[in-house]
Amino acid sequence: MKPIRLLLIWAVLAGLAVFSGCAGEAPADMPWAAPPAAAGGAAHDGIQETLDAYGNALVSKDRAAFLAQIDPASTAFLEQQILMFDRLGDVPFSKYEIVATSISDPAPGTAIAKVEFAWNYAGSFTGRPNPERSAFLLVKKAEGWRLAGDATAQALGKPRDAHLEDFGTVRMLNGDRVLVLYHSESEAVAQRAATLTQNAFPRLETSLPGVTLPKVPIVVYDSHDQVEQAFPGRWATWTGGASLMLGSETDQGGEIIIDAAAFNNVDGYAPEYNPKMLAHELTHVALFSLTTTRTPPFLEEGLADYVGQDIKSVLLPQKLRNGASFRPTLSDLYRPGGFNALLDEQAATLAYEQADTAVDFLEKRYGQDAVPQLIREFKRRDDEEKDQDRLVDGVFRTVLGVGWDEFEAQWRQYVISGS
Ligand SMILES: [Zn+2]
Repeated sequence: MKPIRLLLIWAVLAGLAVFSGCAGEAPADMPWAAPPAAAGGAAHDGIQETLDAYGNALVSKDRAAFLAQIDPASTAFLEQQILMFDRLGDVPFSKYEIVATSISDPAPGTAIAKVEFAWNYAGSFTGRPNPERSAFLLVKKAEGWRLAGDATAQALGKPRDAHLEDFGTVRMLNGDRVLVLYHSESEAVAQRAATLTQNAFPRLETSLPGVTLPKVPIVVYDSHDQVEQAFPGRWATWTGGASLMLGSETDQGGEIIIDAAAFNNVDGYAPEYNPKMLAHELTHVALFSLTTTRTPPFLEEGLADYVGQDIKSVLLPQKLRNGASFRPTLSDLYRPGGFNALLDEQAATLAYEQADTAVDFLEKRYGQDAVPQLIREFKRRDDEEKDQDRLVDGVFRTVLGVGWDEFEAQWRQYVISGS
């Protein structure tokens, strides 16, 4: 019984994870590369240059250039920064950008800079990801501005979210299709996650013809506690894996997040779970740039389960045969955020069974191109039709030749008859 229950719970959380991934603090269209406007003028000259030099040194692994940006008198901060730099030695950044967005002067010769920072891994997505926010304390020295402390809590009211390097030295597994970042104690999980995710690519590419992904980052945390510190409050419960949207543009991409303790635990009693979970999350990463909030979430979740070979249909046929009324309906699940409002386990089960059977039916009745064509058409018409019911009906008519009501009736018949 336990594995089944776990799969159901995971399915709900995977959905939540995707949406919380979309709901980050910083919107994708933030003018992130813009120079700090009106940031105090000449008094702050050189602050951005110091931040640039700091970020560039993380990319080039130039320890001397990195340390030159830190105030040597701020010993605790210096020590912490040296530790962080060394822990990131294996991580191949292609870009590490920090942009000051506003600067204040708590005292003469000191400044607090609110910054947006983001990085790319070499071989992976090239677009700037949605930036994170934090703040630095800087002090003015004869040679220029130098970083003297983390001022995130002071400037933003909450501490900076933790990163993998805060918990230990980051190792990297450079696979053919994935980049796995992990700590040495989670090396076995990192290797298995790399293999399982790479194994899922062929089925993803068959299901979404034309999809091309660079190496997909997989970030392995050792425990749920670490995940919670890295993404405070993002996931109410956590059962092992999720996908995180780094931006809605193709080259911004996404990454897969894993909790090694949960991964190991599940592997012990339900070894079929992790391959499905990784294929599911990989599909979300591929879909981030192909979908909008108007894309029916049942298409996304159903396709993710289809690629994961995890089509579930147990409770739903019986409900439909009995003519019982229940929520959510398939129509509820074409609305934006349709998977966010699942109130209990039965609602979650029915939601995923509807998504799974709808995509399975589309594949069988309308062919392997139907789902990708629907996804493309929803993206194309994103701004065209404001009413979601009319949008769905129109897109289904264009792609399948039948409107929503007829499609839903066909699907219901398919689920009831089992073929
Ligand atoms: Zn999902």
